[in-house]
Amino acid sequence: MADWPIHARIEGPIVMIGFGSIGRGFLPLLERHIEFDPDRLSVIAPDDLDRALLDDRNIRFLHQAVTSDNYRDLLQPMLSEGSGQGFCVNLSVDTSSLDIMKLCREIGVLYIDTVVEPWAGFYFDADADSAERTNYALHKTVREEKISSPGGATAVSCCGANPGMVSWFVKKALTDVADAIGLDYQEPATGDQQGWARLMQQAGVKGVHIAERDTQRAREPKPLDVFWNTWSVEGFISEGLQPAELGWGTHEKWRPGNACDQKDGSNLAIFLQQPGANTRVRTWCPTPGAQYGFLVTHDEAVSIADFFTLGSGNSPEFRPTVHYAYHPSNDAVLSLHEMFGNGGNAQSHHHILDEDEIVDGADELGVLLYGHEKNAYWFGSQLSIEETRDLAPYQNATGLQVTSAVLAGMVWALENPEAGIVGTDEMDFRRCLEIQMPYLGPVQGYFTDWTPLTARNDLFPEDLDHDDPWQFRNVLVRSPG
Ligand code: NAD
Repeated sequence: MADWPIHARIEGPIVMIGFGSIGRGFLPLLERHIEFDPDRLSVIAPDDLDRALLDDRNIRFLHQAVTSDNYRDLLQPMLSEGSGQGFCVNLSVDTSSLDIMKLCREIGVLYIDTVVEPWAGFYFDADADSAERTNYALHKTVREEKISSPGGATAVSCCGANPGMVSWFVKKALTDVADAIGLDYQEPATGDQQGWARLMQQAGVKGVHIAERDTQRAREPKPLDVFWNTWSVEGFISEGLQPAELGWGTHEKWRPGNACDQKDGSNLAIFLQQPGANTRVRTWCPTPGAQYGFLVTHDEAVSIADFFTLGSGNSPEFRPTVHYAYHPSNDAVLSLHEMFGNGGNAQSHHHILDEDEIVDGADELGVLLYGHEKNAYWFGSQLSIEETRDLAPYQNATGLQVTSAVLAGMVWALENPEAGIVGTDEMDFRRCLEIQMPYLGPVQGYFTDWTPLTARNDLFPEDLDHDDPWQFRNVLVRSPG
């Protein structure tokens, strides 16, 4: 057996909520790198597909859904059983991150999740208007709790690959850009938000794409009426049907006709009156080069734009445009095409491709910092399925990028147990990447001279800004080109 480094120890009970593609993949990393008493680990989920993995290890499994009615009665005794500080690891869909996080902090238990998840029903509530279904709205609930209840037991919010790891990548990429253009600067301290925002402004960065290309390919072709993805199908459909949304930068001169502001008047993020997974943007990743990505809303579009805002209020001195530009696996692209072709109604069967069904490919997930003197810089992980199989069991490349971020976030929480509610932008990015890096495959940076105006054919008239290539006007796909 390999000699895995132990990064931390959990003294109390551990409750893992959800045991889907991420929970299953996280289990071996927890066993390898965190010391704990296996008799005090419990897993709760309403499905028991992978129960054998738990039974083989004699891990307690509760075959049950966590709901708004039962979460207190169910979780509180489990999390406070016996001595030592407990840890709640929320890797589920359909459970309220906010409510569970609040309960954990009330009883002094550490908490982590990978997304601000609402209780079941939120994403498909026909009575809610579009603004209420945005990630700005979800993100704000956690920010408000952080402000009204500062300090106390650490609760790490949104600590997966994205949201999560990409916030650490942005800081690393920014220092790379600053070095490359010869900027004379001092790296700001972790908590120096204004210092980081000023550094981004001084480096001339106008915006950030979370630019991802998943080339993982299944052995068999996708049948009709099945949605295939490389991570939660339910999670992807939910976020894909939220409005397209982006952190809105101060350099933007134009906005789409169907763009809307938030009801509270904040101009940190705008959203479009159309589903994100049916909204295309032009972006760039190292392997494919220029590509389309979907403008799916994500917490990091809001949190990174917020973290790098220089100044305050609605007229900040500087803010980058930030959004996701996601080219999922080809099977997922086809699944979306079929779903939107059917009025946005999902296929009757859902399936997550596991490491044995995938023949080859990689998840190339990084951040593209654009608009500066050297044009654009992509920095990220290029983790292949082959390398993933060598690194850890029970997951594909997409999964390992997420589970290793959860590991890093948990270690950080154990090292900083009284930090209150924190997002990944506020954590020590070097420490977190140090823990996560062994699981990310090649992590590299690439400069590119590609812009959204590069090599556009002129067969059809297009409404473009030729003077300012990195305007969102040129990034958003509105007409053939
Ligand atoms: P999955 O669909 O494979 O599994 C979801 C799990 O949640 C299942 O075990 C299911 O039984 C469980 N669940 C459903 N309803 C529940 C309830 N009421 N109470 C308790 N458990 C419940 O999803 P996944 O791919 O494992 O993803 C898990 C979570 O991680 C999702 O919220 C997803 O959006 C998120 N995620 C985040 C990132 C990131 O990078 N930040 C990446 C991938 C997934």
